[in-house]
Amino acid sequence: MLSVQQAESIILDLVQPLQDREIVNLETATGRILATSVSSKLDFPYWDNSAMDGYAVRFADVENCDRDRPAILEIVEEIPAGYKPQQTIKPRQAARIFTGAMIPEGADTIVIQEDTEKEGNKVKILSSPQPQEYVRKKGTFYQAGNPMLEEGIVITPADIAILATAQCTKLTVYRRPRVAIFSTGDELITPDMPLQPGQIVDSNQYALAAIVAENGGIPIKLGIVPDKRELLTETVSQAISQADIVLSTGGVSVGEYDYVEQILAELGGEIHIRSVAVKPGKPLTVASFANSCLYFGIPGNPVSALVSCWRFVQPALKKLSGVLGGWKPLFFKARSLQELRSNGKRETYVWGKLYLVDGCYEFEIAGGSHSSGNLINLAQTNGLALLPVGETGVSAGDEVLVMRVNY
Ligand code: AMP
Ligand code: MG
Repeated sequence: MLSVQQAESIILDLVQPLQDREIVNLETATGRILATSVSSKLDFPYWDNSAMDGYAVRFADVENCDRDRPAILEIVEEIPAGYKPQQTIKPRQAARIFTGAMIPEGADTIVIQEDTEKEGNKVKILSSPQPQEYVRKKGTFYQAGNPMLEEGIVITPADIAILATAQCTKLTVYRRPRVAIFSTGDELITPDMPLQPGQIVDSNQYALAAIVAENGGIPIKLGIVPDKRELLTETVSQAISQADIVLSTGGVSVGEYDYVEQILAELGGEIHIRSVAVKPGKPLTVASFANSCLYFGIPGNPVSALVSCWRFVQPALKKLSGVLGGWKPLFFKARSLQELRSNGKRETYVWGKLYLVDGCYEFEIAGGSHSSGNLINLAQTNGLALLPVGETGVSAGDEVLVMRVNY
């Protein structure tokens, strides 16, 4: 059986980041992956402008003044933000200016209004400023043509502000990965169907679609497929032909109705993973196809399905999306509030909640049964505590690595 680390690296090696690009508007670009680096033709600030309300002056005129010997300057213009100055400031002249307004020709320094006194069309400067004080010089924060944002980043709200400033309203991003999802099992019904004895409501398809969407993928829900070979073959082949990644749940154990692996092989899939030394989620099947579609046959138990998806599918989806790096899950050192147990034979993930308390992480195990069939106590899970192979437990108060999920 493969270790979790072996399975992770096999999976990541199988993924080639998508190259297809599309253009999106700035309004819908948050969370998308930038497919080109972005630069601006404009300097930032665009032109010299005032950082304060006050007067634009020539430093030489105000160099040696103070309250007792104020410089007295003629006000030749008023420049609100957004207007082009009309006058050149000559010796012993000043312009009334407001925050963000363009500095007029001839002026090189701003005197804040608190250090002035206006008298008709004259202003008294009561305190000598520093040379160039409160002038935001053109291009001090950014010079036109330099890279502003790099290819392969996830566009954040702060990046949106930068792109707007640079007047980049159309952005080239990678297309979103298409992820086909279906559930297998004769016992499954959709959440809106009346439950008959023996049946189980399909939860996996909804949960996996949510994880896919959260990771920037497009979930394509193909529904429930009964444990009938022909129907399963049909759905698998349809899924492979239309998606970058396929996620099916169920049918990968060793039961009589577990056909997935045989079907993948019949359809030309190369099987790379048959099971992983992980708990929950041992019977994970991973296959690749000639059209570069990657297939994850995920165990049907709802907890196994979620843990497999968080641990193995999410990194693949991230790499596929074109984002540069940061594909692997994040693990935090946390103090476990309870004792955690494992049989030590497989890498074990214990679900619960990760809290940040006074700058330190704490992990609280979910109450109730830790059976992989119990999905109810997964509510609000945001951490999976990791017990490595060979480790049978962690005592309350001891440190444990916790994988963060749902961020
Ligand atoms: P399987 O992996 O097909 O052997 O299924 C293992 C267990 O998970 C069985 O108890 C199934 O009824 C349950 N199960 C399988 N698929 C789903 C699903 N889509 N939603 C909820 N439970 C499921
Ligand atoms: Mg089944």
